[in-house]
Amino acid sequence: MSEIARPGASVAPAQQVSLHATTVPRSFVAVAYHDVHPGDVFSYGSLGRSATMYHVSERVFRSQLDVIQAAGVSSLGEAALRACLDGAGTRDGPGCVLTFDDGWRGAVECAAPILAERGITAFFFVVSGFIGRRFFADQEGLRRLDPSLFTIGSHGVTHRMLSSLASQEIFAELSDSRRRLEDLLGRAVRCLSIPGGAVDRRVLEIAGAVGYDCVFTSTLGINPTALGRRGIARIGAKRSTDPATLRRWLAGDLRRERARAALLAVPKRLLGMRRYLKLRRALLAESVGHEQFFEP
Ligand SMILES: [Zn+2]
Repeated sequence: MSEIARPGASVAPAQQVSLHATTVPRSFVAVAYHDVHPGDVFSYGSLGRSATMYHVSERVFRSQLDVIQAAGVSSLGEAALRACLDGAGTRDGPGCVLTFDDGWRGAVECAAPILAERGITAFFFVVSGFIGRRFFADQEGLRRLDPSLFTIGSHGVTHRMLSSLASQEIFAELSDSRRRLEDLLGRAVRCLSIPGGAVDRRVLEIAGAVGYDCVFTSTLGINPTALGRRGIARIGAKRSTDPATLRRWLAGDLRRERARAALLAVPKRLLGMRRYLKLRRALLAESVGHEQFFEP
């Protein structure tokens, strides 16, 4: 334990040397992926569609990376992300951050090698309690991720909706997952993605107290947001995200998605997050008997 870098320790040397100030853009779009599965059809067994609707096939993923690269958009790793959020960006034009939530096996074993081939950086946010479970990456897979390209962050222990928990439960979700990942990786874990986007001021304060200084949310927007490192906005990619849509996002135009989010905000506010997610599962025709990894 003693040799593990703790908060405030410097990032790995490889990340420092890969950062060139001239390559840091002033702003970026963060794209949220989940699983990337080999083959066009993939069976998740009893996992419901609400848990898998954001999954893409390897073919779709490669074509989306082609669009990003053809647009001349560079990806930001952890050091460049911090520099950008600290206002040290010098380049106009778009940058992007690719993130993978939950720790799905396909993200680690299928997407990461494709990204590495192309020299594209990314962030993997792992639910520590899912490590080694069916469909999820195991310890060895996570350890093999090249730290000069890939940052591993926390996504909680159980994927419960943090804003609906008592403060001590939020603290346990955030500190236990961080410790598990740091013990596994032997390096500091300071990035967090909020499960289900269920964030409020209390969650952000506890995340800061636990030692996270980059917090990815599910709020739509172009970064840096007014919350800087404590509120990194993202947009979710799906298999149906076509090249024109992706190019529009990379150019910083999220007007269509903002309009849709404004509509969805009404039932979310009226029902509360927990009941909203239940309703969404019902609308997606999931029966009660489905295994719910993501029960809030
Ligand atoms: Zn998640």
